[in-house]
Amino acid sequence: MKAPAVTVLGLFLLAASLQAAPDPHWLGHDRERPLPPVVTPGSFSTQEQPGLPPSDATVLFDGKDTSAWVALDGSPTKWVAKDGCLVCVPGSGYVRSLQSFGDCQLHVEWSAPNPSHGDSQGRGNSGVFFGVDRYEVQVLDSYHNKTYADGSAASVYGQYPPLVNASRAPGEWQFYDIIWTAPRFDDDGSVKAKARLTVFHNGVLVQNNVELTGPTGWVGRRPYSAHPERLPISFQDHGNPVRYRNVWVRELGHPRHKEFLLPDKLLESYAGDYRRGKGEPVKVRRLPDGLLSLAMAGWEVVLHAESPSHFYALTTDVQCDFTSADGKQQIAVTVGEDSDHAMPFDRVAP
Ligand code: MG
Repeated sequence: MKAPAVTVLGLFLLAASLQAAPDPHWLGHDRERPLPPVVTPGSFSTQEQPGLPPSDATVLFDGKDTSAWVALDGSPTKWVAKDGCLVCVPGSGYVRSLQSFGDCQLHVEWSAPNPSHGDSQGRGNSGVFFGVDRYEVQVLDSYHNKTYADGSAASVYGQYPPLVNASRAPGEWQFYDIIWTAPRFDDDGSVKAKARLTVFHNGVLVQNNVELTGPTGWVGRRPYSAHPERLPISFQDHGNPVRYRNVWVRELGHPRHKEFLLPDKLLESYAGDYRRGKGEPVKVRRLPDGLLSLAMAGWEVVLHAESPSHFYALTTDVQCDFTSADGKQQIAVTVGEDSDHAMPFDRVAP
């Protein structure tokens, strides 16, 4: 029976055409339509010198400053800045960005140890991860180094080998330009849209908008498990002193707020009950993935961190600040845009 195949193809083409459809709110050549923001392009890197990022990029590593990076739990990272590079210290664990990103363009340059040590997966192994530590684009010294195809440099680990091997020799600078589309989940945790990756390795297209089956991993392919759309980017410590430089990211979709995944300890210190006079308490609870919830007067919202002390709700206009005065922890809650009328609540001793 051939009809269903035609139907499936038809649906696929329809879906593809819907995805690519121009915004129906604007006429063709509409003069009222806002022009794209102006961005000053960056410059290309050479082996000797990293290039400049585009003017609208968030620079995660500029050769000196490691303040954008922490260990997975948010504590200070043991990776070091040396000779303009962010260097993996074997045994120190992954390093992650403090800031969270949704759909984005990521530029990252890396260099495998020279002379090389080990072989297969043991040579110059690291990784660029999205969703904290869930989805890996493999970093590996794949220059005359045989390993399994879906573990090669620029593979989506365990899922997609790169289309070609565009590796440079160990010690040379290589770069990835990656377009990440985060997975989307429904409220019940089911997958609405799978994650997608496009990867250029040294300017060569090696992953063309591939759809991830779920988190990447060594043994088996795990299914998706719901998580926030915006999460940090990480580099893997796989026991090899791989170096990174010139790391920048452009978050797509112009989100209104920045978002950070704060240290576990700081988030724990905010959780608890807060009270104002004899009124009903405000309850702050920890949620997975660095989120907090705030409950008061019969409603509850999820809080996202915009700075170490300022949080906002995505679903309604609620913002709050955690402050500390005279050894007392407070939370100031603002409902609506009127920040002059923040309601302060004092922490109730746990
Ligand atoms: Mg790896």
